[in-house]
Amino acid sequence: MRAATRCVHHGPGNDPYGSICAPLYQTATFRQPSASGFGEYDYTRSGNPTRTLLQDQLAALEGGTYACAFASGMAALTAVTRLVKNGEHIVVGADLYGGSVRLFESLSEREHVSISYVDTSDLKAFNEALTPQTRLVLIETPGNPLFRISDIRKVAEATHRVGAILAVDNSMLSPIFQQPLSLGADLVIHSATKFLCGHTDVIAGVVITNDWNLQKQIAFTQNAEGAALSPFDCWLLLRGLKTLALRVERQSETAARIAQFLKAHPQVKEVYYPAFAEPDRYAIQRTQATSDGAVMSFTTGDPELSTQIVESLLLFEIAVSFGSVGSTISLPCEMSHLSIPRSLRSRLGPPRDLVRLSVGIEDVDDLITDLEQAFRRASVLSRKPVNPQPC
Ligand SMILES: *Cc1c(COP(=O)(O)O)cnc(C)c1O
Repeated sequence: MRAATRCVHHGPGNDPYGSICAPLYQTATFRQPSASGFGEYDYTRSGNPTRTLLQDQLAALEGGTYACAFASGMAALTAVTRLVKNGEHIVVGADLYGGSVRLFESLSEREHVSISYVDTSDLKAFNEALTPQTRLVLIETPGNPLFRISDIRKVAEATHRVGAILAVDNSMLSPIFQQPLSLGADLVIHSATKFLCGHTDVIAGVVITNDWNLQKQIAFTQNAEGAALSPFDCWLLLRGLKTLALRVERQSETAARIAQFLKAHPQVKEVYYPAFAEPDRYAIQRTQATSDGAVMSFTTGDPELSTQIVESLLLFEIAVSFGSVGSTISLPCEMSHLSIPRSLRSRLGPPRDLVRLSVGIEDVDDLITDLEQAFRRASVLSRKPVNPQPC
């Protein structure tokens, strides 16, 4: 089955009535056949049929065998950090979700685990960061919010050479456009809050793998620490997945047109989007992903102008997150990446004039008209350009 078909048809499950839609097992516990013999499900923290349907579908979409659904993308990432023991080392990409940086910093403060942040689009720098103690490598490609492209195959080879595991946070492209397990990654992580859900009504995360040994450890954490996704949220996510392929295909088509519009706009300094990466980077993107996605960012050279643009838009909602059917816009420096600890902001913080937008399924011409009016309005309102510093 191809992806668009898989989105619509989850497995049959074992519903006795043949419900076409996923049955919602909104129960905390399950009646057992006897005091000593357990049934297939006993307690929803440990397992729930609605969650099983979701996990099986997510695994299939990523070309994986196993999936564990969590109460958020951060809970999924936390479960992955549990694979790392005291004295071990983690390498993390430098173009990363701000909350992930905060998680890794708190881990290194609490425990004897060292963290290196490295631009994994630079293979030489990446190889130099690996040590015999490296246990885990986590990357996002394209990165966020600067859309740097890392070569998943090459990063996986180097990671495996030192005996570490590679986790790819694939939230930005979704499995419709990029399947990191097929490129050598050991784990795929999603903030399912983003494209997988697509409707801004669920917070969820998932870890997908083909490796039974890793799966055992992730599933242990899901049950033992108790951050599994609730049945109702699993059900909403199953519903969202039906239109995943349709949504992301339209969203990325529209995004490509908006990226061209921004690139041609005299008030825009630079557009960060895979299509505009350096040719050698873009060539890598073309070998590992089938689209550039629906999120991009741009600079104006003036934080005040950027703020005015964001606040002048009518259709793009000012909101953190991305991947929704509704277009959103944000200032990463002030919003999604504010959680980067102050000490790391000069290195990992986005530029202050950076605007990130996530393109929804609205009519493309309406979105461009909205951007045109916002740029016009903002240039009247904003003050003289200042030299932007990183936040
Ligand atoms: C949003 C996001 C997260 C965190 O996920 P939540 O569902 O908000 O907990 C992790 N990684 C990336 C790339 C994200 O965009």
